[in-house]
Amino acid sequence: MILTAGYSNPNNPSTTPRHPQTESIDIEPLVVLTGAGVSAESGVPTFRGAGGVWRTYRAEELATPSAFLRDPQLVWEFYAWRRELIAACKPNKAHLLLAEIEKQISDFTLITQNVDGLHAAAGSRNIIEIHGSIWRIRCLSCGGRWDDRNVPLGELPPQCPVCREMARPDVVWFGETLEAEVIDRAFETAQRAHTMLVIGTSGIVYPAAELPRVSKARGANLIEINTEETPISGIADKVYRSKTTIGLQDWWADQQNTN
Ligand code: ZN
Repeated sequence: MILTAGYSNPNNPSTTPRHPQTESIDIEPLVVLTGAGVSAESGVPTFRGAGGVWRTYRAEELATPSAFLRDPQLVWEFYAWRRELIAACKPNKAHLLLAEIEKQISDFTLITQNVDGLHAAAGSRNIIEIHGSIWRIRCLSCGGRWDDRNVPLGELPPQCPVCREMARPDVVWFGETLEAEVIDRAFETAQRAHTMLVIGTSGIVYPAAELPRVSKARGANLIEINTEETPISGIADKVYRSKTTIGLQDWWADQQNTN
């Protein structure tokens, strides 16, 4: 989609803008990077810090490969609890507006750090889930993956339907590297972004935090929507210092107004 700044109607010269802003503003490819702030307004706990305490454990103690090796049952019970909490959450206005924007833009990619599946539930299609999905399960033995939306989950830990071996949540744990194919795709997308919209992410979790920098280095227009100052704020071309739902509505309205 091409949005034209200072549009002038050739049939009505009086609408010609005083300032020669006749240059087209092309916001595509539009790449959106979302983090926990987007889900917070749906009531999804961050699972970090105080909000992440389950029984007596912090998320950082359980969402790790070593915790799973030690006690897969315990880690699975933790994930079963998280899935129940998330299942009760619905997409908010930001999720819905992003899905709507995708319909209006031909080159749109949503990169998310969230594992809650709310973007897909809102109708977004072209999504790169760089930290995986809490609704997907992966076999430790054969690597097979499958979706499972059952709440509550059945017998824990779940078994692979093919090889009957133990399976794990298909999410990226603390101390794990991101899946190469997925993160490569995210970086390729970030590199060719014309506009990079960074929403509700702290900008401190790598490699996700590198994506806006890559876009910016390639000349993209970098927009941040966040309630708080982040390491991205300083390099952003424009910052919407507000909640996700409000900031996104404002940004989108600004795009319409330049048309
Ligand atoms: Zn298997």
